[in-house]
Amino acid sequence: MELTANIRTVYEEERPRLTDDQALLEAARCLECGRDGRPAPCIEACPTHIDIPGFIRAIREGDPLHSARIIFEANVLGGSCARVCPVEALCEGACVLTHEKRRPVAIGRLQRYATDAALEAGAEIHPRPRRVRWPLSVGVVGAGPAGLACAAELARLGHEVIVYEAAPEPGGLVVSAIAPYKQMVDPIPQEVEAIRRLGVTFRFNTRIGRDLSLADLEARHDALFLGVGMDGDMPLELEGIDLEGVWPSLRFIERIKAMNPPPIGDRVVVIGGGNTAIDVAREAVRLGARHVTVLYRRTEAEMPAFRHEVEAAYEEGVQFEWLTLPIRLLGEVRVSGVECVRTRLVPDPSGGRPRPQVVEGTEFVVPADTVVFAIGQQPRTDLLSGLPGLRLERGRVWVDENFRTSHPRVFAGGDCVNGGGTVVEAVQHGKLAARAIDRLIKPRRRSVPATNGKEED
Ligand SMILES: Cc1cc2nc3c(=O)[nH]c(=O)nc-3n(C[C@H](O)[C@H](O)[C@H](O)COP(=O)(O)OP(=O)(O)OC[C@H]3O[C@@H](n4cnc5c(N)ncnc54)[C@H](O)[C@@H]3O)c2cc1C
Ligand code: SF4
Repeated sequence: MELTANIRTVYEEERPRLTDDQALLEAARCLECGRDGRPAPCIEACPTHIDIPGFIRAIREGDPLHSARIIFEANVLGGSCARVCPVEALCEGACVLTHEKRRPVAIGRLQRYATDAALEAGAEIHPRPRRVRWPLSVGVVGAGPAGLACAAELARLGHEVIVYEAAPEPGGLVVSAIAPYKQMVDPIPQEVEAIRRLGVTFRFNTRIGRDLSLADLEARHDALFLGVGMDGDMPLELEGIDLEGVWPSLRFIERIKAMNPPPIGDRVVVIGGGNTAIDVAREAVRLGARHVTVLYRRTEAEMPAFRHEVEAAYEEGVQFEWLTLPIRLLGEVRVSGVECVRTRLVPDPSGGRPRPQVVEGTEFVVPADTVVFAIGQQPRTDLLSGLPGLRLERGRVWVDENFRTSHPRVFAGGDCVNGGGTVVEAVQHGKLAARAIDRLIKPRRRSVPATNGKEED
């Protein structure tokens, strides 16, 4: 099928900002349920537990600044989350209107309305941090969502925090990988500026493991938080992988985010079944490809991508080849097609997802001018194995319920712990880890004299 739909460009926002009138009308739809001692279902479904009825009420009362403060109190990246959260599976999915088969309150867009208003006005969005200044400090590795949230919460609690970031800018995957029609860069700079005003120090262009070792940091700080995310794409070992026009997903998306998309031709094939594969397919449609096909080796039912994203891809004309395994990339200099075989699913003896098994004699070719593979990200094993005593499980950092690793003074959260989740989950990990670090350091304060006599605890 050829894509003929009038598709928007890759840089056009999927969830644009509501006007004042739209926001007031939408806010009026909130039923403010769950008031008698029970939190509203949307609050429970939000990983950062924002007081959603509270912030919507503030919008209705004409006070978006107060609304934004409610949001940022629970989630320091509330403006970014408003753009990128999979709301269909979180807050909006839990809205009682959804259960009544009505359109849910547009929580994400109302959140964006309030946070944009506050950030654009340059308003103070966080309360002043406690004026505690003890000779104790916390090192945070990574200025992605997990590291930023951890640093902000520690600063709010009065700790000195230094964030070490390999990249020249903060934001992690939000600025380099999240689909541009959800978020390019803003409002990350404004959200980070507000975190900086809390007293957090940033050291950019500082790669731990190269410029400083994890052991150096551990010796330098009283506690560490690892928010290093995951590494690049898992390699795809296939004949023809070095042909022109074949891309690992993150490098492909990075080029789009840098507003320098590679030439893709008419036919794009995406290999994989997760959210990144669906993002790439939807980006290729917006870049003007006429045929976009996703190859997945299991069936639609096993696909790890969010259901609402798969449905959106269908609506935009993306085609899917289920039970399909690529075996070779064809072409002379540039890729011209993907040779595939069909699979059948057989039970996994260890009880996991059914396994794809090749069906002999079913070879076929899907023509392609560009092939993007999105089969998962690699763990940062090299970096993480540099700290003796840090337990890894399948490349992920093992943590307890307080996000404490097997090393007593090292905490971790975000993608390096869950193997790849969402921004809002990473924010919540960082926030909860910060509170646990605070509890760990606090008892030690009693034996350490204050330097400025301003302790307010
Ligand atoms: C293609 C793609 C699309 C996505 N789309 C969405 C979406 O629409 N919505 C959503 O909610 N989530 C989405 N996600 C997931 C989301 O981006 C991540 O869950 C989230 O960014 C994880 O935050 P993090 O802080 O754990 O890691 P990251 O965002 O990866 O940040 C880690 C940071 O650590 C830094 N770092 C790493 N190693 C070192 C080192 N040695 N020294 C110093 N710094 C280091 C990195 O440079 C980076 O800045 C997407 C992910 C991908 C890959
Ligand atoms: S942070 Fe995300 S999940 Fe939570 S209320 Fe906002 S949009 Fe919904």
